Amino acid sequence: MLPELQDVYDRVIRRNHGEPEFHQAVREVFESLDPVIEKHPEYREHAIISRIVEPERQIMFRVPWVDDSGSVQVNRGFRVQFNSALGPYKGGLRFHPSVNLGIIKFLGFEQIFKNSLTGRGIGGGKGGSDFDPHGRSDGEIMRFCQAFMSELHRHIGEHTDVPAGDIGVGGREIGYLYGQYKRLTNRAEMGVLTGKGVPWGGSRGRTEATGYGVVIFADRMLQTAGQAMEGQRVVVSGSGNVAIYAVEKAQELGATVVTVSDSSGYVVDEAGIDLELLKQVKEVERGRVSDYVERRPGSRLVQGGRVWDVPCTVALPCATQNELDHHGAEALVKNGVAVVAEGANMPSTPDAVEIFQSSHVLFGPGKAANAGGVATSALEMAQNASREPLTFSEVTSKLEGIMERIHFKCATTAEEYGRPGDYVLGANIAGFRKVADAMLEQGVV
Ligand code: GLU
Repeated sequence: MLPELQDVYDRVIRRNHGEPEFHQAVREVFESLDPVIEKHPEYREHAIISRIVEPERQIMFRVPWVDDSGSVQVNRGFRVQFNSALGPYKGGLRFHPSVNLGIIKFLGFEQIFKNSLTGRGIGGGKGGSDFDPHGRSDGEIMRFCQAFMSELHRHIGEHTDVPAGDIGVGGREIGYLYGQYKRLTNRAEMGVLTGKGVPWGGSRGRTEATGYGVVIFADRMLQTAGQAMEGQRVVVSGSGNVAIYAVEKAQELGATVVTVSDSSGYVVDEAGIDLELLKQVKEVERGRVSDYVERRPGSRLVQGGRVWDVPCTVALPCATQNELDHHGAEALVKNGVAVVAEGANMPSTPDAVEIFQSSHVLFGPGKAANAGGVATSALEMAQNASREPLTFSEVTSKLEGIMERIHFKCATTAEEYGRPGDYVLGANIAGFRKVADAMLEQGVV
């Protein structure tokens, strides 16, 4: 890393105590930037690097609500409005007990470059709460969402900041959040949130978009090696929205998906995951993958192990940050993995990424490979603005084009900088340059 990048990085560590995930996300981007900074003295002159690591605004707030037993609960809410150079802040809300400011900042920072790669005019932001939805009744979820929006509504808007879902926030939560926003503002301002229900302004295909996009991206990566998804043996981690639709798309393209996972363990299903059963268990019953195994003859549950020990040719980490470490990476490489594409945000640790790259495994970082979700959110915003809904197949064909272009941009940027096949470098540089140029043109703000 150039000394000036190192200086800014050291300062990030000093000024953002106890936020290791944020440090990690910054480092991952900075490690790609030496050649860009050398080539563009104007970035240096206008302190683009120091400015880009500082969120434009960070909001933290109390979320008090009453649970089913009548007790008052207090959670903490966050919204980090990181960068608006390319458009309104855009990014999901995460409800999970692990959420803290550092987690939201890492996600918001990643979102800047991801959103830039989509080519859709959206800035970067992220939010959420340490609220744990697990085991909460529908009424509790609704009251929590209403309490959360009671503060958040002051800070968002279709031209300001447009939240969506992430871990723990799906269609149900977006419904409650939107209802409360509308009640508080007396505005049917549909473009203020994405991931809405289709009858009230949601986009067809938004639910599927992230998972579909990851598989389309992996397919393009395979094509560069003269292969395709068809016939691949795929390991998926996670069993939330991203994982489910990654399984669906991979199967549609003729691959066999043999695993999914959650905190109860991982499923191995050699015959290929039964998608209908998986959807029933996870989406309808909100159950565990252990419930899947109980109802699926021939499948088995492995508790306490690593899904990465299951041999495969394509690995799609779709659960959460830092779920795939160097042990996992070594096991995957040993078993002959050819492509790893990240459905989650930063699921691979830096040493895992290094192992993939030095072993010539094609590695697609989340900010490129999982950008289909937020790109489709941008399509939802466009539909809300024009009041002209798209059909499912219009959305999915646009999604395919977007993923194709992101892949192309990453691949050609990596080539331009003398590192063909390095999607990390390609995604970071292509994502960064667009934001940096916009910041230059907009002056010191
Ligand atoms: N949470 C998703 C992401 O990580 C989607 C964000 C959005 O649609 O705004 O990109």
